[in-house]
Amino acid sequence: MQVHIKNERTDHPTEGAIGYSCGRYTTRKLQLHGCRDAKLGNPHPVGKRCPRCGIIHARGEAIEACKVDPEWRYRLRSFLRREAKRLRYHQHVDLWCWCAPAACHCDLIKQAILHNHSGDA
Ligand SMILES: [Zn+2]
Ligand SMILES: [Zn+2]
Repeated sequence: MQVHIKNERTDHPTEGAIGYSCGRYTTRKLQLHGCRDAKLGNPHPVGKRCPRCGIIHARGEAIEACKVDPEWRYRLRSFLRREAKRLRYHQHVDLWCWCAPAACHCDLIKQAILHNHSGDA
């Protein structure tokens, strides 16, 4: 299984992939691609005041904050449970966000999907 992190603005879907929108909004373009909303937007924004922490996160910090955020982790587990069956039938998964090629919380989602998948085998 391969998980691709895609930029909503500039990238095209991988052939035969199941697509998930991982940002804070689902755009019309993604709906046209048949993407599902992963409901996994990072609650810790980059470069503007974080409503949870009250500070401005740099990019790396926003990922770290996301990684240990209990509510986000709960949503990630729900996502993996909810989508387990669908994920099992796809060789390719596209994760759509606004950030690629910059790092973002999609890396955490990618790791979790791959980890979960290898656990299945
Ligand atoms: Zn924060
Ligand atoms: Zn992102």
